Amino acid sequence: MQYHCARCHHVFTAPAGKDGDGGELHCPRCKAEAGLEPAHKVSRSMMLFAALLAGAVVASAVGGVLSLSAGVG
Ligand SMILES: [Zn+2]
Repeated sequence: MQYHCARCHHVFTAPAGKDGDGGELHCPRCKAEAGLEPAHKVSRSMMLFAALLAGAVVASAVGGVLSLSAGVG
């Protein structure tokens, strides 16, 4: 799981088992234990972009199938 340090803006990956409790986790650069946010908020826009891309791919695929069936029929 990736974390973003609000103090030094360093993004690091927490070792397995450390995240979840939130007690021992600290930034490897500035040793800050507070202000660590899971980097999931960043991936939300990427998910939106991926959904948009998938929609465009599906739309073009459907369009291709429709034109194919129109040509056959
Ligand atoms: Zn830091």
